[in-house]
Amino acid sequence: MTSVHWFRRDLRLADNPALVAAVQRARAADDEVVALFVVDPLLWRSAGGPRLAYLAASLRALDAELGGRLVVRTGAAADVVPRLAAEVGADSVHVTAATEPYGRRRDAAVARALGDVDLVPTGSPYAVAPGRLTSGAGTPFQVFTPFRRAWLDHGWAAPAPRPRSVPWATLPSDGVPAAPHTDVDLPAAGEHAARDRWRRFVDDDLARYGTDRDRPDLDGTSAMSIPLKYGEVHPRTLLADLSSHRHDSAGTFRSELAWREFHADVLWHHPGAARTSLRPVVPDDSWARGAAADAAFDAWRDGRTGYPLVDAGMRQLRAIGWMHNRVRMVVASFLVKDLHLEWQRGAAHFMEWLVDGDVPQNQLNWQWVAGTGRDAAPYFRVFNPVLQGEKFDPEGSYVRRWVPELRSVPGRAVHQPWRLGADAAPGYPARIVDHKAERTAALEAYQRGR
Ligand SMILES: Cc1cc2nc3c(=O)[nH]c(=O)nc-3n(C[C@H](O)[C@H](O)[C@H](O)COP(=O)(O)OP(=O)(O)OC[C@H]3O[C@@H](n4cnc5c(N)ncnc54)[C@H](O)[C@@H]3O)c2cc1C
Repeated sequence: MTSVHWFRRDLRLADNPALVAAVQRARAADDEVVALFVVDPLLWRSAGGPRLAYLAASLRALDAELGGRLVVRTGAAADVVPRLAAEVGADSVHVTAATEPYGRRRDAAVARALGDVDLVPTGSPYAVAPGRLTSGAGTPFQVFTPFRRAWLDHGWAAPAPRPRSVPWATLPSDGVPAAPHTDVDLPAAGEHAARDRWRRFVDDDLARYGTDRDRPDLDGTSAMSIPLKYGEVHPRTLLADLSSHRHDSAGTFRSELAWREFHADVLWHHPGAARTSLRPVVPDDSWARGAAADAAFDAWRDGRTGYPLVDAGMRQLRAIGWMHNRVRMVVASFLVKDLHLEWQRGAAHFMEWLVDGDVPQNQLNWQWVAGTGRDAAPYFRVFNPVLQGEKFDPEGSYVRRWVPELRSVPGRAVHQPWRLGADAAPGYPARIVDHKAERTAALEAYQRGR
């Protein structure tokens, strides 16, 4: 019988065990495989423009790889998938397991609606499926370091081979929908572009990753978060390549991937963490609310806080839909601890603009910075935007790249333009808050909450 491979967060043909399962099932019956993607108009309308534009480009790349046989159908998955299965007489629909709250609910509804047709999950978007690892006491991990140890001990399968000569079915398709226009400068999408980028990173930058990864001025990171988000590449593939590199940087990179797996595991066990703090650390009345808070949020969002590193990051986000990890930490800390705004507000803005915007990674990283996560930077650790700038952007070139008003300020002086006199940076805003005073206010709130 025909089998269906329903693509979701696995927009690739290589190292895709769920696709291998679909192909095997079809071959055993000497039949065809339907390559399905479902566009749910509700989701399509609610996702950020940069993510939609990238997703549309990635789907077009996948369709080209499939020789134009990607079958796009529009509607709620619980209606579309059973209808398609009935149309082709399929007895199985194959998927990479969804592990986030929304995807788990959707798949449960689809499995019910499919009735006698099997919904077959194989693998997940992670090297080790969320929920698989437990501590010695059999409980979920709360802290990253023991999780990483258990994750390394557990290990993962070798990459799955790419199926060859697949008998793809040819069916009517609604086509990849047009994405809304975006001015964000997006990277090339699709499996091939992801592999090329990864190979370039391994050849040119991996050896220096351990020392350069915290420097937003150097472009020393892999930019793999975007292909990982859409499943254009699987972390197993990256881990397999890393295993042939002996230098410390390969171990550092592996640890970063372990953070990704840790956050997914935390969300698996605590689905509510997508919206609410795992640990409320300050009294509710310490959050800023009202018109002044809204104006502060707008200044943060628009990159006009008067703190150069914060503003550079927020403008980088708007320009390319991505921000360096060090700067994400600084701008997030600034929102929560200098502006006293709840992390959810910042996380929502990130989801609107980040091309790699991903519920487990975004929400749990925000909770980490806000100090509300399980294994989080303690609330009393407050990032100083000036010191962070001087340390990680020592010549100021990152700031000058993204904040044109500061381009004539030389060297590291760019991190404190207020010291240079009124005419040094025409058009650049004055600081909207005093970091020292706000740090004290944040620590007082923390003491009251203890
Ligand atoms: C407030 C905040 C929000 C974030 N939101 C997201 C998000 O929505 N989506 C997302 O993928 N990442 C998010 N991150 C994590 C991190 O910033 C990005 O994964 C990283 O900057 C992506 O760039 P890269 O691929 O060049 O990273 P590299 O340094 O090359 O890292 C390699 C890979 O390791 C993983 N990784 C690295 N750092 C982290 C981390 N802190 N947490 C989890 N995984 C990590 C990513 O998959 C990344 O692609 C967020 C971090 C913060 C502080």
